[in-house]
Amino acid sequence: MTSDPNCIFCKIVADTIPCFKLYEDAATLAFMDINPANPGHCLVIPKSHHPNLFETPPAVLGQVMAAVHRVANAVQAVVAPDGMNLVQANGKGAEQSVLHFHMHIMPRRIGDELKMNWGLRPGDMKAIGALAERIKTHIA
Ligand code: AMP
Ligand code: ZN
Repeated sequence: MTSDPNCIFCKIVADTIPCFKLYEDAATLAFMDINPANPGHCLVIPKSHHPNLFETPPAVLGQVMAAVHRVANAVQAVVAPDGMNLVQANGKGAEQSVLHFHMHIMPRRIGDELKMNWGLRPGDMKAIGALAERIKTHIA
């Protein structure tokens, strides 16, 4: 398993910094985004460090998508959004801020006017933690 000691998501995988964990298996980890664009915004990552799409082996992408499917279903059940986007950024021009491959699961509301570069605003940690507990119970 590749790891980068300076990578914040590798630190979350190693449990040296905390997260609101939703799901994990041998290859992947899902947790709440602490700067949620909308309630229920969460991330799915491979446990191994790969900076972006281009450097992530296809087999790993498959494992990540299987986890995305599970977690997205739980978010859908709990948050009941009007829609949902899966977003994934590669490189500066795409405003990728964490260089460890990750899929955003982003619940949407009609009229939320969310743009591709939504900006990072810290969320209410109590509310994020409470929602994480509810989503966790819906992961099959
Ligand atoms: P991107 O800009 O596509 O690279 O997305 C990185 C995401 O990681 C952003 O939405 C951040 O809010 C999120 N993020 C950064 N640090 C943490 C953290 N410690 N816990 C949870 N989410 C984080
Ligand atoms: Zn990493």
